[in-house]
Amino acid sequence: MTNVSPPAPETRRCGATLADATSALNSWVEVNLAAQARNVASLKAELGPGVDLIAVVKANAYGAGVEGVAPALETAGVDRFAVVWLDEALRLRALGLTRPIIVLGHTPPPRAAEAVNAGITLTCESLDLARALSDAAVAAGRVSKFHIHIDSGLHRDGLTPAEGLELAIAARSLPGLLVEGLSTHMANSDELDDSYSDAQYAAFERVAAELAWAPYRHAANTATALRRGAFRLNGVRIGLALHGILPANTAGPQLEPVLALRGRLIRVHEVPTGEGVSYGLTWRAPRPSRLGLVPIGYADGWRRGLGNLGAVLVTGHRCPMVGRVCMDQFLIDITDAGPVEVGQVATLIGTDGSAAIRAEDVAADAGTIPWDTLSSLQARLPRIFHRDGLVESVTDSGGLHHA
Ligand SMILES: *Cc1c(COP(=O)(O)O)cnc(C)c1O
Repeated sequence: MTNVSPPAPETRRCGATLADATSALNSWVEVNLAAQARNVASLKAELGPGVDLIAVVKANAYGAGVEGVAPALETAGVDRFAVVWLDEALRLRALGLTRPIIVLGHTPPPRAAEAVNAGITLTCESLDLARALSDAAVAAGRVSKFHIHIDSGLHRDGLTPAEGLELAIAARSLPGLLVEGLSTHMANSDELDDSYSDAQYAAFERVAAELAWAPYRHAANTATALRRGAFRLNGVRIGLALHGILPANTAGPQLEPVLALRGRLIRVHEVPTGEGVSYGLTWRAPRPSRLGLVPIGYADGWRRGLGNLGAVLVTGHRCPMVGRVCMDQFLIDITDAGPVEVGQVATLIGTDGSAAIRAEDVAADAGTIPWDTLSSLQARLPRIFHRDGLVESVTDSGGLHHA
């Protein structure tokens, strides 16, 4: 069975200011590619020479929009890319990326030829897949590189050390194959106690020592890469830090937030004291209140659980979310925000004047983690890719928001 890639959204090149590019939009995501490039430079300086920065751009580049983010990362000098599924890797090649791309997740053996022909480095979990890759490589006159993922204690994907060793040795004798290296992944990288990571690393090292002929090793995500210098090995798989966000337990170089989420108020109205608002009337006006309607909902990735908890910025003021989040919109209390009219920008993530709301804050309000908050942002939201305010391109998934 083959997965069908979703149609690539249209990316248009622009050259306007953010205000111009968003004047006819209800809601949008802004992605500052210049800030992201500075983050890449800061991370590379921190990692030092000899450690590849493997940019993890799975899940639509953590919701930022892979079609703008990935080419900019290649220009910014990342060494390799990693995604989870083959279709994500093929999309990167379709975007014109030339650096090595590693697929971290499971690939069904019938898809081996697609991977070989696009020069994708798979993570191989079975002799079946190794044989399929070998056949495809021989047929295409190519060499297929793959990595073996060792389950060193996360007990999620990969092979046990014994299985990994067995597969590596069996695959070594198949034509057209190169076992390039080994990977593993830590269970407790976000914790303060490193003892389990140490045990995992020791287990990984024992397998690695037996496979010196497969020399490329990678074990670290953002937290491990920045907290555990010894675990950097040949490359580190960095996702979150590219977006200017560090895990709660991690100190690191100075990074800049890359993404903002904004919408324009589509209705401003008043309710008298005691009136209930939105589904279930879970919020009642404690005083005569002015409300603003924000055209973003849980179908855009703005969690329903944020209702009555979060806040957004309007004219630099924190305006509490009131009532339940609906599928496509939610309400805020703008009584204290000064004169506000329809069309006024509300900032859900990002800065407005001297105030800021970080993805980390939204995640905490929603009872989740920033990885979840970012990767939940849906394709329905247009992506505006800019460099410090100068718009480079715009992605629109269905033309819904453009005049
Ligand atoms: C998503 C992922 C990463 C990136 O993690 P960050 O914490 O975002 O840096 C690294 N390795 C694997 C296996 C992943 O699935």
